[in-house]
Amino acid sequence: MKTLVIGANGQIGRQFCELAKATGVPVRAMIRDSNQQRWFQERSIETVIADLEGSLRHAFYGCDQVVFAAGSGPHTGPDKTLMIDLNGAVRTADLASELGLSRVIQVSAIRAEEPLKAPDNMRPYMAAKNAADAHLRAAQIPHVILKPGRLTDEQATQLVATSLEEAGDNHVSRANVAHVLLHLVQNRQLFNREFTLLDGDRAIADAIV
Ligand code: NAP
Repeated sequence: MKTLVIGANGQIGRQFCELAKATGVPVRAMIRDSNQQRWFQERSIETVIADLEGSLRHAFYGCDQVVFAAGSGPHTGPDKTLMIDLNGAVRTADLASELGLSRVIQVSAIRAEEPLKAPDNMRPYMAAKNAADAHLRAAQIPHVILKPGRLTDEQATQLVATSLEEAGDNHVSRANVAHVLLHLVQNRQLFNREFTLLDGDRAIADAIV
């Protein structure tokens, strides 16, 4: 029952892998480069080298579910947004479905369903996330779509909200996102669900049900 973590070397990905390891949840960290391996080896976390823009299929063998926490990041252009946030997510859903995995847990973004309401420079990103989410919904595989607000580097509170109205603000710490991913990975009864995710006042187990 191993979870493949795509984007494992990212800021959310590393925190999630550490939490999973500490909790005894088996994970395989997908990284792009052997230079990234050491951090994981020091924590006895299994790695596989694969790339959303290249060879990918082998990373899935022996895994039962996937966390997609990859992203092209703010310093690349729409070309990489298209190839990572959209095509990478589509490839992930298709491979997970074809290989019979039990679930895909995808990190999307708050309000991804309204790309035309986003600021001009965010529209390609929001459009990519929106299309990736639509593809996953239509794919023949159980899934959870997690839509965090603006990410911060604050400490984990493990207290969250699932709407802007409830939260009163639009941010969530990467640490809280990692804790929610752990909760999702451990709770297999949660599927074909979507959650907006913000910092808030409710325990994760009460909010993400
Ligand atoms: P991050 O630190 O930039 O991590 C992104 C990860 O994706 C990195 O590990 C990166 O690998 C990996 N990646 C990029 N291209 C790849 C490829 N071709 N193949 C495989 N992996 C690749 O991001 P984060 O802060 O953890 O955020 C993660 C997610 O949250 C993203 O999906 C992002 O869109 C979403 N999100 C962000 C915000 C925000 O406010 N920033 C808000 C809502 C949602 P390397 O380490 O090798 O570079």
